[in-house]
This record gives sequence, C-alpha cells and structure tokens, in this order.
Amino acid sequence: MSLEIVSSAVHCPPASGFTWISGSTVEMGIDESGDPKTFIEARDVKPVWSMEKRYLTPIAPDELENVSIYDPLTSAEHGGLFKNFASLEATEEKILGFANRYGSLGAHGETVIPTEIVKSIDAIEFEYSGDGEPTLNIERKHSFPGQELSAWRSEIMNMNCLIALWESLRSAQTKTLRRAIHIDREGAILYDCNKLDLGSKDDVSYRPIKVIPDETDLLRFGHLSDTDFQAAGWIVLRKKLSENVNWRGPNIAWSGSNLRLAFRTYGLISALWLQFFQAVQGDLRYEQCLNCSSFFQVGPSAGRKGKTYCSNACRTAAYRARKEQKT
Ligand SMILES: [Zn+2]
Repeated sequence: MSLEIVSSAVHCPPASGFTWISGSTVEMGIDESGDPKTFIEARDVKPVWSMEKRYLTPIAPDELENVSIYDPLTSAEHGGLFKNFASLEATEEKILGFANRYGSLGAHGETVIPTEIVKSIDAIEFEYSGDGEPTLNIERKHSFPGQELSAWRSEIMNMNCLIALWESLRSAQTKTLRRAIHIDREGAILYDCNKLDLGSKDDVSYRPIKVIPDETDLLRFGHLSDTDFQAAGWIVLRKKLSENVNWRGPNIAWSGSNLRLAFRTYGLISALWLQFFQAVQGDLRYEQCLNCSSFFQVGPSAGRKGKTYCSNACRTAAYRARKEQKT
C-alpha cells in the first residue's frame, strides 16, 4: 500500500476576522547567565513580561472557525497561494488582509496579554498543577491567542528567499547563484538572499542560510567543489523544503470518497510549503493576474495557457472596467 499526501485540515479565517494588538507574553525569567529558565527551574525565578510587541489575534477567539473552509493544495483557485504569500508586503495591513482571507499560519501561536491589561496587573502569578506545569493565573478573558508580527515577517521572507533560489536554479542563472552561494572547504553551503534582488521587504535584511549536505545529497552529487553552485542551490532548496513542512501522520484520511493511508500537514504555513514543493516537483509556472495581482498556475497541466486573469470574476471585472473607461 502506498502512502498518499492529502491536504491538511481546513484553513479558514474566523468569521469576524483578525486584528492587531499590542501586548506581551510571559517569560519565565532570566538567570545570571542570561539564559531563560525552563518551567521547572523557574519555580524560584520571578516570571517577567516580555517586551511589548505586535500580535495578530482573532477578534472573537471563542468563535468556531467554520465559515469558509478551503483547501490550498487541491483547489485550482488557490494554486499560487504560496507565491502570493511570499510576495506579500510584510506590513500589518497586508498581513491582516491575507489572514482575514486565508486564515492564520497555524504555527507560532502564543498566549498574549494586551498592554492595557499588563499595566493593570501588579505581579505575575502562576498556579502549579500536580505535575509541576505552571499556568498563568489570569482571567481567561484577559489573554488572547496571538501570532507575533515578526513571526509572519520571517515566514514571508523565508519563503520569498527560497522561491528566488528556485527561480535562479531552474533558469540556471549561474551568475546569480555564484553571488549568493558560498561553499566552504568542508562542503558546508552558505546561501545569502541579500545578494539577490528580491525587492525590499521593509528594509529588513535576510539571515543567511547555512546547510550541511547529508548522505542523500552526497549520494546525488558527491562532494561539492567550491564552484558547484547549481548542486549547492538544490541541496539548500531540498533541505529547507523538507524542514518547513510540518507533517501530521501517517493517518487515515479522505481521498475523494475513499479512505486512504495518508500524510497531512499541520497548519496553513506547512500547507504553503508543501504547495511550494509541489511546484518544484512539477516545475510549475505562474502568472500574475492583470486585475488583482494574484499569482495563478499556468501551463498545460493547469489548462490555462496564455491566460492573463486568475479567475472569471477578475476577467469580468477587468472587462467592465474597460467598458466604463470607454463611456
Ligand atoms: Zn485576479
């Protein structure tokens, strides 16, 4: 029996959507060496509020997320979603728009206390259950599930950076690869996105990625020389795609109307990385819609050769706009 990849569970924004709040999380305290303490060690250490940061949080956290279920991996309409995500301008406004349409990342969740509530709390208290697990002694209505702005930003930049690598690899842009990739004497690979022209993401610099080839890479390419930029790039891409898909399973899932043994992914961000992998595997091509700027898949497998709009809705909207201009 073969294992199949079926899509992750549902991805959907809560009905009333998300909003940005300023808030803090609780940190377990810092010892003299500056290392954060683990929960158990932290019994003796005073917990502290983390610095105030910006968090994306559902407007109504208790609301059931059951409004607009969609599956990014099987619906043609969302075929280019990973590219839309990676090309997002990493601002609060754009991220909010994306989350309200497609849901939260499904990772990087934290318990956030809004700043005005933090200010009203004199001391942070924990209750310890029998097994020593601490729970923050704070009313539930005062804490919210949140995702930090910087977590969104780094996910967007990370994906943008690796899509740029993929695009350089498949069009064999050796000059570009030579600029961004360094292979040291031990065969470790350093890939630096800052050396590519990626368009600014709020002037934040990308962290260079270091990858050590593993046995499967060595079997495929042998030991790299310091000019094997193409091989080194594929090794970086394989490794990062592999690291970024968070698997759930194997388990038993629906595949059409049948039950199959299957892998699924955790959360939207994993599904987007898997979608990126499918694009690499299938050497898929994308165009940007002339009406809404969304990326959509083109080419024979998508049955959309030469199309310029992502959907009939966008085609119609563009047609109407042209007609209005004439009159
Ligand atoms: Zn469109």
